[in-house]
Amino acid sequence: MKLPPTARPAWSVIDLDALAHNVRVIRGLLRPTDRFYAVCKNNAYGCGVQETASAMLAAGADAFAVSDPEDAARIRAAGVTAPILLYASTCPDMADAVADLGLIATVHDFDGLEALSRVKRSVDVHIEVDCGYGRLGFTPGEWNQAFRRLRGAANLRVVGLYTHLTAVENPPAVRKQADLFKRAAAEATNAGFEGLELMAASSRVMLGYPELNLNAVNPGRMLYGMIEDPWQGKADLKPVIKAIKSRVLQVKTIPASFDIDDARHTAGPGTLRTAVIAFGFKDGLPREPAGGTVLIRGQRARIIGLRATEHTVVDVTDIPGVCAGDEVVIVGAQGGDAISGHEAVSIYRMAMIELLPRMSLNTIRLYEGTG
Ligand SMILES: *Cc1c(COP(=O)(O)O)cnc(C)c1O
Repeated sequence: MKLPPTARPAWSVIDLDALAHNVRVIRGLLRPTDRFYAVCKNNAYGCGVQETASAMLAAGADAFAVSDPEDAARIRAAGVTAPILLYASTCPDMADAVADLGLIATVHDFDGLEALSRVKRSVDVHIEVDCGYGRLGFTPGEWNQAFRRLRGAANLRVVGLYTHLTAVENPPAVRKQADLFKRAAAEATNAGFEGLELMAASSRVMLGYPELNLNAVNPGRMLYGMIEDPWQGKADLKPVIKAIKSRVLQVKTIPASFDIDDARHTAGPGTLRTAVIAFGFKDGLPREPAGGTVLIRGQRARIIGLRATEHTVVDVTDIPGVCAGDEVVIVGAQGGDAISGHEAVSIYRMAMIELLPRMSLNTIRLYEGTG
């Protein structure tokens, strides 16, 4: 595991063994016949879908779900032929091109349905219904008409029905949405569809409402161990983005007589030692809020000021021996200490599925383990 010799030292470590472990944990929650779509949107939540898709299949996933045709292309570039569900992500005038990708397309509104039904080839589709999210999919007043039109679209083969639930921390709200989804499923059956995959279980639904594991599931954040409390404790999941790292570019002594904009320096009479690290908001570390720490030589160094585009300054006054080239840990373990994803989320005030992928997607990804 090595960076290219002239690469700017800002990288992430992706743990394929942790990913395989999480896939096996999820598989263990399912019946053998349940279809397990591994959600790989946002380039596998920043873990790199081309590099991870095969490991997910080997560990027990059946298929993939993405929201960007680019991610589907990355899976195919890995030589993977398993089914890929494309969530709603394209406009009706792209229907021909989408059909050519050989994916399971999503039908989520009438314009898209019409466009796909005019394509001169057969297309597998999943129907998306909206049970209260208020985002994509047919609403209860629309879906029966959608089912009728789909029955009449000779080139479209309906393989399933899915919804994405919201307000998952609120059981009555989940129950209400789940009841609507079950109604949609019953009405699809009445319309003549049989043997559909019924899918309403994303990560937190799987963990909090196992009865909604119908016959297909589509967990995302859980696969990558990027799940916050109280859900985290419900399954033994490991962080797949194991570390985010950088190195020290320069160490500097700031004499007491030299003014810089730092409260500790202004207040204290002593000399400050700072280190500049090769990591900034271009690498996904948010510019604000101020604060936070990194690990250098196994010790905590507080961040001074806001993050700049490509640099961050830290206080190493109390860490002996710091020099240019030292490894810096933004997330992960070093020496006897560690900054977990959970700690990072509380420092930088960003959801884990936003914070960690923005850093891994903007740095060099190094892979560890074999899956
Ligand atoms: C992202 C997504 C999921 C997975 O959600 P997680 O909370 O990450 O498990 C499931 N279904 C749809 C439609 C999604 O967009």
